[in-house]
Amino acid sequence: MARSNIKTRAAGLHLLKLALIAVLLSAMPLPGKAGNSVKVVFWNSREYVSLYDFINTTNIDNSFDIITQRGKLYRKAAIAVYQVGFPVALVNGKVARADYPVARNKGEVLMPLPLFFPLARSLYHDMQVVRTGNTISIGAEQQEKEQEIAQQERPPSTGTEERISFIIIDPGHGGRDPGAIGHGSREKDITLWIARYLARELKEKAGNVRIKFTRSNDRFVELSRRTEIANGMLTGSGNGIFISIHANASLSPKISGYETYFLSPNPTNEEARTTATIENNVIVMENTASKKKYDDVEYLEALMLTTQIQRESSTLAGEIQKSLAREVKEFKSRGVKKADFYVLRGALMPAVLVEVGYISNSKESRYLKKDAYRRKLARGIARGVIGFITRYNDGIHDLSKP
Ligand SMILES: [Zn+2]
Repeated sequence: MARSNIKTRAAGLHLLKLALIAVLLSAMPLPGKAGNSVKVVFWNSREYVSLYDFINTTNIDNSFDIITQRGKLYRKAAIAVYQVGFPVALVNGKVARADYPVARNKGEVLMPLPLFFPLARSLYHDMQVVRTGNTISIGAEQQEKEQEIAQQERPPSTGTEERISFIIIDPGHGGRDPGAIGHGSREKDITLWIARYLARELKEKAGNVRIKFTRSNDRFVELSRRTEIANGMLTGSGNGIFISIHANASLSPKISGYETYFLSPNPTNEEARTTATIENNVIVMENTASKKKYDDVEYLEALMLTTQIQRESSTLAGEIQKSLAREVKEFKSRGVKKADFYVLRGALMPAVLVEVGYISNSKESRYLKKDAYRRKLARGIARGVIGFITRYNDGIHDLSKP
C-alpha cells in the first residue's frame, strides 16, 4: 500500500517536470530570431499583416517580382504564392481566399488577414499561429484559451459548402490575332459566336450563376490577362469555372472532331502537344513584360501543385466532352486530353479549353460556319458545364468518383 503511494507521487513529480519543460519550450522564440510575433495592421478599415514585418520576424525565405507584383514565401517543402491586387493566395497547391485583395501601401505588401492565417499556418504547420488582441504569434503550443480564439479567426474552410457562383467564358483569340484560318473562316469569329450563344444557354439554364466574358467583341486580349480576369472574380465565398473556346487546325486536312483539354505539363500525345504549341503561339504578339510571366518557373511549379484544381478541371472536361458527344453526331468525339496551354496556366479554378472542331477540315469547316451547328456545340458545352456544377455543388469530394 505505502509503496504504491510513493510510486504515484514519483510519477506525479515526473509529470510536473515534463509540464515545466513544455512551458519553457513554449516560451522560447523561433530559432535564430528574437521576436516571433507580428502586428495586425489596419488600413482602409481592413485587417492586414505587413509581409515586411512577417519576413523580418520569421526570417522566412521569400522573393518578390516587381513587374508582376507577385511574391513567394518558402519554408522547408512549403510554398505560398500571392499577387498584389488579388484576393487569393496559393498555399501549398490550395487556393486560399479573402473578401479583399493583397494590397501595397508605401512600398509595403499588406496581406489580408483571411489570407495570412492559412498562409502562415501552412508554412509553419509545425507551430501554432495564434492571434491575441492585435498580435499574432508564431511559435510552439499556446494556451487553450488562445487556441479557441484562433479557431474563431480561421476563415471559413473552402470545402463542401463552396458553390460555383460564376463562369468565365473565354472566346479564343481576337483583334490582331485571328487564330486558325481556313476555308474562308477565322477561328476568332467562330469562338466569339459560340461563346455568346453559350452565355445565353447558361443564363437560361445554369441558375443563379454570374457570367463574364474575357472579351465580348473583336479585340486582342493577352493570354495571362484572361485568367487574371477570372481570378479577379474569386472572393471569400464561391468558386468559378473558366472555359476557353477554340477551333483547331492541322496540317493533315483529314483530321476532324472536337476535344476538351485540361492543363497538364505532360501532354496526352504528340497531337495534343502540337495543339497547345499552336494555341500558345499568340504570345509572339504580346509585349515583352507579359511574355516574362510565362517563364516564371517557380510560380508555374506552385500552380502545378494544385492537384485539386487539376482533378476538378479533368472532371469538368469529362462532363463537357460527354455532353458534346451526346449532342454532336456529325463529327467524332476525340475525347478528353491534357496539354500545357498558357491560357489555362494561371487559373485558380477548374479550367478547360474546348477545341470545337478543325477549321482545316473542309467538311467540318463548312459546318462550323452554320449557326445551327454552332448552337449545337454551344448547347453541348452548356449541358456539360451544368452537369459539372450540379456535381460540384453536391459535394466537391464526390468529384473523384466516376
Ligand atoms: Zn485557338
